[in-house]
Amino acid sequence: MKRCTKEWRENNMMKNRWPAAYQVIEKLEYAGFEAYVVGGAVRDFIRGVSANDVDVTTNATPNEVKQLFEHTIDVGIEHGTVLVVVKESIEVTTFRSEDTYSDFRRPDNVMFVRSLQEDLQRRDFTMNAMALTKNDELIDYFDGRADIKQKLIRAVGDPFKRFSEDALRMLRAIRFSAQLDFSLHGNTLEAIEMQHKLIDRVSLERVKVELEKIWTSNHVGKGMHLFKTSKLAINFPGDWKTYLDKWNRFLMFENVANGWAFFALMQQSNDINTLLNFYKCSNAEKMHVKQVLLAVEKLKKGHWTAYDIFQFNEEILIAAAYYAEIILDMNTPYENNDIQRLKAAIPIASSREIAVNGNELMEWKQEKRGPWIKEVLEKLTIAIVNGQVENERAQLKEWYFREYDN
Ligand code: ATP
Ligand code: MG
Repeated sequence: MKRCTKEWRENNMMKNRWPAAYQVIEKLEYAGFEAYVVGGAVRDFIRGVSANDVDVTTNATPNEVKQLFEHTIDVGIEHGTVLVVVKESIEVTTFRSEDTYSDFRRPDNVMFVRSLQEDLQRRDFTMNAMALTKNDELIDYFDGRADIKQKLIRAVGDPFKRFSEDALRMLRAIRFSAQLDFSLHGNTLEAIEMQHKLIDRVSLERVKVELEKIWTSNHVGKGMHLFKTSKLAINFPGDWKTYLDKWNRFLMFENVANGWAFFALMQQSNDINTLLNFYKCSNAEKMHVKQVLLAVEKLKKGHWTAYDIFQFNEEILIAAAYYAEIILDMNTPYENNDIQRLKAAIPIASSREIAVNGNELMEWKQEKRGPWIKEVLEKLTIAIVNGQVENERAQLKEWYFREYDN
């Protein structure tokens, strides 16, 4: 067995790794309570990667937690969660179990319990149901560590029961599989395949969050494949099937709305707006998708005009060129740096940069303010973008009189 040096051990102790969580646990223990780090942070620690956020669970009630710490924020007291602000903010949640379920998603009431084991038992997957003491001792009742070693996502207890208690867990399983590159354990997958219809009970807002987490993950293709093969996708409108393999090559370009644009391009007969509304996309997201689709439409002529390049922002052009190639098998002549170069070659980036303004136009034409100004500015924009006239005052004036005053 490999021995760790003292230095290595000290650097890797919770005290140094998660000082804020350590401080919270120490204080709770000093006051006579139990407290542990739980959930995703423990999972990521065992996987050897750094955690997003560190959550603490304790047998102290929310009120007891609030009395103990100077600065706390009520973030979800009805679920037993208090945010304790020390060096950082740490979510501290009282041991709890959820025992009455009516709508397959939201527990009717939260029951505080006194044992850690009961708290861990209500968690979704074995990898998420471990706890760590402040001295880094692992508490692992359900063999989460062994499952992590085997890269397996396995429900805690009976997966059929656990998914009927909360159907969101089915989608979480798939999302974690895409994020971690793990497989679903046989029974866990079978339970999803058999009970996939229960996903109807989950709000679309939550579904959207999970889909977007898949799109942001490192294994999008794997996640979307599971979404389909587990039968969950059947319960959602839109064509998730025909272009399934295309998700293997999906790139998000740092904008999650691109997931919706990619999905929209896969649709043959579905009305895009209806779909985006169904999935509760925001107006900004809908706008983004429309722009990408429009840019793809323009590309069907073989290339973009200078005005197309001017009109769409770089982000839209990059997504449209790549998605047209992936989904529609179009041979697009643009690489990302071509787009940047072409964008840079357009003399103006927006019509605000035109070297004349409304006042000057009124002077030239000797006419009062009116909608005609906007029209002329639009024409000037097009002429500048197309290289028919330079964006320079004297030349614009000459161009104006040639176009309008003959
Ligand atoms: P991430 O890194 O994505 O935040 P996480 O494991 O921390 O992963 P969260 O959604 O933040 O995931 O949830 C924290 C913990 O709460 C989980 O690790 C799990 O133990 C528990 N949990 C969350 N959602 C559920 C659920 N629907 N059913 C059961 N347990 C859940
Ligand atoms: Mg988390």
